[in-house]
Amino acid sequence: MPPKSLHPDTLAIHRGRAVDKSTGAVTAPIHMSSTFERDADGDYPRGFSYSRQANPTRHSLEQCLAALEKGSEAVCFASGSAATMAVLQLLQPGQHVLITRDAYHGTRHQLKTLFAHWGISHDLVDTTQVAAVEKAIRPETRLLWIETPSNPLLGISDLAALARLGQRHGLITVCDNTLATPVFQNPLDAGIDLVVHSTTKYLGGHSDLLGGVVIHGPDFSQAEQLREIQASGGAVPAPFDCWLLLRSLSSLGVRVRAQAASAADLARRLAAHPAVSAVFHPALPEHPGHELAKQQSVPDCGLLSFTVHGDRQAALDVVAGTRLFTRATSLGGVESLIEHRASIEGKDSPTPGNLIRLSIGLEHIDDLWQDLTEALEVISQP
Ligand SMILES: *Cc1c(COP(=O)(O)O)cnc(C)c1O
Repeated sequence: MPPKSLHPDTLAIHRGRAVDKSTGAVTAPIHMSSTFERDADGDYPRGFSYSRQANPTRHSLEQCLAALEKGSEAVCFASGSAATMAVLQLLQPGQHVLITRDAYHGTRHQLKTLFAHWGISHDLVDTTQVAAVEKAIRPETRLLWIETPSNPLLGISDLAALARLGQRHGLITVCDNTLATPVFQNPLDAGIDLVVHSTTKYLGGHSDLLGGVVIHGPDFSQAEQLREIQASGGAVPAPFDCWLLLRSLSSLGVRVRAQAASAADLARRLAAHPAVSAVFHPALPEHPGHELAKQQSVPDCGLLSFTVHGDRQAALDVVAGTRLFTRATSLGGVESLIEHRASIEGKDSPTPGNLIRLSIGLEHIDDLWQDLTEALEVISQP
């Protein structure tokens, strides 16, 4: 097992992997078995009994993910949403949650539709303003859910300041690190208690699997309960998906750095385009979170949003006009996607109607730019 001091790009390839002892296979086999042999005395000396409890392929993945986020343990789930559920299930009725105002809409939706009737209340808060978060804390507040960069407005929150605030008030602090990835940001280093990923996105990277993970450090007091939710709740990822994700993690660093570089370049080009009224990306110096993003992480991200001069229909027309960008939700894959975000978020969406979200893939930037500029021709310029 490589030591912990290796660079994340190296850990992504080696941690949790070993040459298969019985065959010499360099790429680990997929352990599809749901059940494992007991010894005559009833023990499981090889550590595995039943795949809901633990599975060798999942175990390899969890070791790799824990290392990438500099945590002591990673707990994998069948989707990012199942990972979110697991974190919220650590709470008790009567407790209260604060969550980033423009956090992933599915997380806000879970709180509203699934947890409200179990007696868990929540408030949306602008986590880019530490004072606003402090003001919103109630005696029954137990958990602070932070998404930075947020989605789709790419707001940047101060993780270290929020971690300290959480410690003072006895809160569990959680960071959904899906957009930044561990390549650009390690929230545990800033003192955050839990990191959540939808591994469906950048970590999977190829739009061909669903997965989620919760990662924590050695001091997290509800670690056993989290494992219990995974093993007894049973929302575990299939071995094949774990293996696909391990394969994708090997190329994580090169993929996301290339995606983020293209996104930053496209953000700069869009900001200068006459059909565009605003661009949201932390690499732009005019972005309100630019300085903070530079201090606490790398101000990079393969996702960007922009608004066009015009209304909701104008934005829909642009989205309808691209040929290379595929109209689809999700993000983080090698293929670029374009989305009219307010449509997918539904009626109570806080997202501006003229906002378009782009997930930048690995196509050549000149081809992407040509596709965008042609689609933007439908906007009558002011
Ligand atoms: C997609 C996403 C989720 C939910 O993950 P699923 O794998 O779709 O269940 C959570 N948080 C963020 C930031 C996401 O983008």
